[in-house]
Amino acid sequence: NLSGDAYRCQHEITVTGDEVPMPFSSFESTGLPSEILREVRNAGFSAPTPIQAQSWPIALQGRDIVAIAKTGSGKTLGYLMPGFMHIKQFRKDPQMGPTVLVLSPTRELATQIQDETRKFGNLSRISCTCLYGGAPKGPQLREVEKGIDIVVATPGRLNDILEMRKISLQQVSYLVLDEADRMLDMGFEPQIRKIVKEVPIRRQTLMFTATWPKEVRKIAADLLVNPVQVNIGNIDE
Ligand code: ADP
Ligand code: MG
Repeated sequence: NLSGDAYRCQHEITVTGDEVPMPFSSFESTGLPSEILREVRNAGFSAPTPIQAQSWPIALQGRDIVAIAKTGSGKTLGYLMPGFMHIKQFRKDPQMGPTVLVLSPTRELATQIQDETRKFGNLSRISCTCLYGGAPKGPQLREVEKGIDIVVATPGRLNDILEMRKISLQQVSYLVLDEADRMLDMGFEPQIRKIVKEVPIRRQTLMFTATWPKEVRKIAADLLVNPVQVNIGNIDE
């Protein structure tokens, strides 16, 4: 079992922030509940990916985080696993609105996140639904009305539903901006800022991105509080 520093070095992990906890190099060392560990074993995963190994202990401390790692590095579970733990600890009344909100740039990605949530959160009885454009609102609204722990949404559709006053984000205490660089490339910044105004200030905010250009730095500086930054590999400007 590698020491934390050796693990970071071997996997090209760089961290910035105060007293950043050491990475979890194995699933066993995460302390995640057995029903979640059973799901990762069922999926055939042998160890956390580097971004998961380093993001989990930080996010589990309740801290804001910016995680930068290339596509395919396992960022989704990087925020979902601590999100599940957050829900177990802080869930209020799902009927009143979600505890976790994930913003995602496209319908396709949002659907993948939902699939991953259902697969790994199933035994923990965590509910999830997806809100995206190009599909009728009715069925999506009915899912929300049923009471839901996690909403995964594209910014445009979520704003439409917010304007209709059909969802409340007042209970959201874990906010994820996934593929933040892509969302900004697609022009979603004004929509994101509008949505974030509906989320209480007292929350944990996590930003996951493949690249770290200045537009992403700017929105991170505005929306996150004293975040820990984690990079895997070279920083791609
Ligand atoms: P990213 O968001 O960084 O592009 P994803 O979260 O979509 O990456 O993950 C890419 C693939 O890796 C997915 O098929 C996912 O199920 C798989 N994966 C995630 N975590 C692990 C792991 N710890 N071990 C093996 N495969 C994993
Ligand atoms: Mg991703």
